[in-house]
Amino acid sequence: MRRIAVMNQKGGVGKTTTTVNLAAGLARQGRSVCLIDLDPQGHASLHLGVEALGGTPTMYQVFSGTKILDDVRQMAAPNLWVAPSDLDLAATELELVDASNREIVLREAIDASVANFPFDYILFDCPPSLGVLTINALTAAREVLIPLQPHFFALQGLSKLLETTALVTRRLNRDLRVTGIALCLFETGTRLAADVTDDLRSFLDQSDADTPWGNAQVFDSRIRRNIKLAEAPSFAQSIFDYAPKCAGAVDYTALVEEVIACEEQNSQPLRQAA
Ligand code: ADP
Ligand code: MG
Repeated sequence: MRRIAVMNQKGGVGKTTTTVNLAAGLARQGRSVCLIDLDPQGHASLHLGVEALGGTPTMYQVFSGTKILDDVRQMAAPNLWVAPSDLDLAATELELVDASNREIVLREAIDASVANFPFDYILFDCPPSLGVLTINALTAAREVLIPLQPHFFALQGLSKLLETTALVTRRLNRDLRVTGIALCLFETGTRLAADVTDDLRSFLDQSDADTPWGNAQVFDSRIRRNIKLAEAPSFAQSIFDYAPKCAGAVDYTALVEEVIACEEQNSQPLRQAA
């Protein structure tokens, strides 16, 4: 099983779009996938047609210990499940403040139901912050996938994000590795996008192999800016259902293939934290 946190503390960089379409693409390739929505905005859930109306069990109840994951996940498409969130999840940050296990609630919830949770992939759509929900994702995950919009300040934000990853690796989850950086909202043919990509590659090349990002790759697939990707959520469809021939579908198909290509080295079971 692979557990991948799609994370970037900046909003609007393509986290949710990437999590949803990666999940949908992997499911279409025959992988069983569970997307865990950790953003109180619930956009990933809505994007896949899962609306948490009153009474729908959500991730909030998992964090508050009143439901188990199996009660919360819903089937959204063949091979694809979603554990939805809604605004209640915003309260979790506060409610967990004094809990001694606040950083490992999610991992414990997954471990407790792993027998009923035989997924090939669990993808976590993180909120745009480095708060307790994101820390829970990093503690429950084995891999981090970072969507990055190539602009001038992107590398600055990245170093903060990598520091957080290193901190979680030391304290909570020594198995955590940054698998890759996916360039999203990519403006083909612009100088800036090319420069940022080069800077990113040389930064990774110079990084110590012992860091959690020592073996990270910049995925070759670039997710170009494509209006169909922005339209698909309002039709509650992945890009593969909404516009299977558009550039967005082509780009996410390529990313899915790259993610599948690194299945071998990333499918080992998790070790417990030291
Ligand atoms: P995040 O989850 O990081 O906040 P989103 O995935 O929600 O980012 O993307 C932010 C906005 O940009 C959304 O309206 C989304 O539909 C749109 N968007 C994301 N990726 C693309 C893309 N490649 N082309 C066009 N619009 C995109
Ligand atoms: Mg989002």
